[in-house]
Amino acid sequence: MKYSVVIPAYNEEAVLQLSYNRLKSVMDTLGDYELIFVNDGSRDATLDILRQIAAKDSSVKVLSFSRNFGHQEAVSAGMAKCRGQAVVIIDCDLQDPPELIPDMVKMWRDGADIVYGRRIRRKGETVFKKLTAWVYYRLLKALGGQYIPANTGDFRLIDRKVCDALNAMPERNRFLRGLAAWSGFKAVPIDYVRDERAAGVTKYSMKKMLKLAGDGITSFSNKPLKFPLAFGIGLSLASFVYFVLSVVFVCAGSWPYPHILFALLFGLISCLFITIGIFGLYLGRIYDEAKARPLYIIAEQINVEEL
Ligand code: UDP
Ligand code: MG
Repeated sequence: MKYSVVIPAYNEEAVLQLSYNRLKSVMDTLGDYELIFVNDGSRDATLDILRQIAAKDSSVKVLSFSRNFGHQEAVSAGMAKCRGQAVVIIDCDLQDPPELIPDMVKMWRDGADIVYGRRIRRKGETVFKKLTAWVYYRLLKALGGQYIPANTGDFRLIDRKVCDALNAMPERNRFLRGLAAWSGFKAVPIDYVRDERAAGVTKYSMKKMLKLAGDGITSFSNKPLKFPLAFGIGLSLASFVYFVLSVVFVCAGSWPYPHILFALLFGLISCLFITIGIFGLYLGRIYDEAKARPLYIIAEQINVEEL
């Protein structure tokens, strides 16, 4: 199998047939392929439509979830089952143009392991969504999520080895675009204008969006856990200076004595913050262990015998 296309679908009856038609006409120009639709517990006719399509076209495969598990989970399921040498992940709503796939394939043939779609313009998205995306990517960068390039979604082509590497990561809160970048394989962007949804409405509720945004930060940065430590150390230094000053000035008779008590109180509070910060350090390590990502990924071996 040369190419796999993974398409998550949640309540997409309005756009599914159109999406299939456009994907099929693009993929037919490329050769041997499979289209893996993952029905993420849709409550509309999505599954019926998929059944009909699959009955007529054996290159269409369907995985259907028992309930709605979420977009990243749906993509993960498709990635686990697909067999292509190159795997394309694309939304069902045609916001990401399937016609871009041949260009992605070309870049893959030229040596890229990951070809990720980068939105140069977002059509039909509200100012609110654009603004929150802008703030979010800045925040992510500031917190050390350097792996995640701005303005990218999950629309991408990945090589088999990247797919295998991602499948081998057992973590449960999956921010796939970040994991792909984290894997370190050669990634090349492809710029495109993100279209409006072809039909239907967004399936990403505010709650789902916030969960994804949170996963992006917490999966790649332990920095927030260190804030209390930094604050505690800063406060302890400040209270020490305050303490010395208050002793001097109280002895000299120019400050009333409670200043010494305040300084001691601030010192005590700083101890609390430092303690919480130390807990944070260990928590971060426990979290890293719990994510159980591979220690390293070998991209190539030369003159090494398989044992
Ligand atoms: N999706 C999914 N499960 C969900 C939410 C969304 O499988 O719980 C799919 C949806 O069918 C679509 C893709 O994820 O193929 C992206 O969703 P959507 O286009 O609604 O998000 P937006 O582009 O508005 O951010
Ligand atoms: Mg969409």
